[in-house]
Amino acid sequence: MTKTTNHSNHDKSPFHTSRANDWCAGCGDFGILHSLDKTLTQMGLAPDKVAVFGGIGCSGKTPYYLGSYGIHTLHGRVIPFATGAKLANPALTVIAVGGDGDGLSIGAGHLVNSGRRNVDLTYILFDNGVYGLTKGQASPTLRQGEQTRSMPEPSQLEQINPITLAMTSGFTWIGRGYSYDTHQLCELIEQAVHHPGSSMLTVLQPCPTYNELHDKEWYSGKDLDSGRGRLYSLQDDGFDPLVPDHAEPAFREQKMLQCLERAHQWGQRIPTGVFFQDLSRSQLSENIATRQSDYKIAAPAQQQICDQQGRSLVGLEALFDTLSV
Ligand code: SF4
Ligand code: MG
Repeated sequence: MTKTTNHSNHDKSPFHTSRANDWCAGCGDFGILHSLDKTLTQMGLAPDKVAVFGGIGCSGKTPYYLGSYGIHTLHGRVIPFATGAKLANPALTVIAVGGDGDGLSIGAGHLVNSGRRNVDLTYILFDNGVYGLTKGQASPTLRQGEQTRSMPEPSQLEQINPITLAMTSGFTWIGRGYSYDTHQLCELIEQAVHHPGSSMLTVLQPCPTYNELHDKEWYSGKDLDSGRGRLYSLQDDGFDPLVPDHAEPAFREQKMLQCLERAHQWGQRIPTGVFFQDLSRSQLSENIATRQSDYKIAAPAQQQICDQQGRSLVGLEALFDTLSV
């Protein structure tokens, strides 16, 4: 891995840190980091009101390079950390980041159940088709038959499609960006953060060190007769992803079908933008509040749990009484 001292290039940002960055020169991670930094700054969010959680992998180091709260968590476990933080402290803007290997293999169960819960958090999946940190093995998004430079043989496994997995798991906002198109990426990050529910933004990002198949020249479509890039914006194409509040089930199903159809496009034309936005489902916090009436005004992080001498103020007896049958 080529060392570089580059870090967030947004020096005036309140999220700027001076920590040395060890991503390879030209890595798509930089475009995502820059877009996150710029978007959070433009949204006027204070660093102490934002928590960024990273999985394991090159992308998992992102919390080191942003001056917000954050934790570099365990392999595949970034979503449980983010979920717990958001439920304990709903005032935080919570963002989870991780790679395609981290999120779609060891972490896939957590990803699926995050969609079911519809917690108000944003999950950004860095998708480069390889396990970059461990020297380029095939990740779950590499297609069957593809062989990148450190693989001795082509992959025998079928690919996982992150968009269709997110949709069938229940994520209520699903988008795709490209790490070198930071203008669109900033817009998508802002929409994902604003969405009231679970958002999954998958970002196509070249790994110049290990994935020579899907580099920036490939995305730019230099090999195509059409002479245009492979990537196109769904919204520029008139695609409407919205399922409004109180929408009929049949309307929602129709929007899911159109999401699936676009999610399967790959090769000469690859869609980016917002694939699906569902405002018809309740958030987990709303469901919790139906059982715990003071949840929204006194969430766990706002409650006093000990006195000045450190003695516990938590009444477990009362909790156990509520569970007796
Ligand atoms: Fe290097 Fe690839 Fe990891 Fe980026 S994703 S830091 S290019 S190995
Ligand atoms: Mg990866």
